[in-house]
Amino acid sequence: MAKKIVIATKNLDKLCELEVAFKGLPVEFLSLADIGDIPDAVEDGETFEENARIKAKFFMAQTGLACIADDSGLEVDALGGRPGVYSARFAGYHAHDVTNNQKLLEELEKAGVTESAADYRCALCFIDVDGTEIIASGVVYGTIKNIARGTNGFGYDPYFYVNDSKTMAELTPEEKDKISHRGAALRELVPKLKERLE
Ligand code: IMP
Repeated sequence: MAKKIVIATKNLDKLCELEVAFKGLPVEFLSLADIGDIPDAVEDGETFEENARIKAKFFMAQTGLACIADDSGLEVDALGGRPGVYSARFAGYHAHDVTNNQKLLEELEKAGVTESAADYRCALCFIDVDGTEIIASGVVYGTIKNIARGTNGFGYDPYFYVNDSKTMAELTPEEKDKISHRGAALRELVPKLKERLE
């Protein structure tokens, strides 16, 4: 019987990006939705890596299965690296992409800029049932501008310019994967996971 691994995220956009990368591994991947009603993890780490580990451990304890968790976010230079680990909740506890992006525009205006160097970072953590841990990380550098373009991707993608004229939200999923923070972290994680599963 194939080993079961839970992709431990409640963010369906992340789930899609992660699932594609794991295709072909000799594993039965489950999502949290397949498991049932599970509370949220308390993400009180100070780094993406700490939060990815907190989530992987929490959901492993909840499900009794090996888990992979993602913690990721946007760092904007003109905002002193914010929103960082608070990217999902930038506009408050019940924030979503629209309100977070509004908050981003407000904060750029407050800082007196229309654009700023920025990066997306991603940490992935795999925790097996015996406690074995594999961590991987990725980063992509770009520019946040106050003009939205494109409808693909999620989160801050319409404002994250990967070059002078194109945002992450104008890339196909395949193009995003090739350059994104999550794509980079996955390219580090997948071979390590493969090695462990063999
Ligand atoms: P987390 O679920 O606590 O890791 O928060 C992740 C948040 O960072 C998301 O809700 C988005 O706001 C942002 N984020 C992470 N990755 C991406 C991405 O690939 N595109 C756009 N926004 C992202």
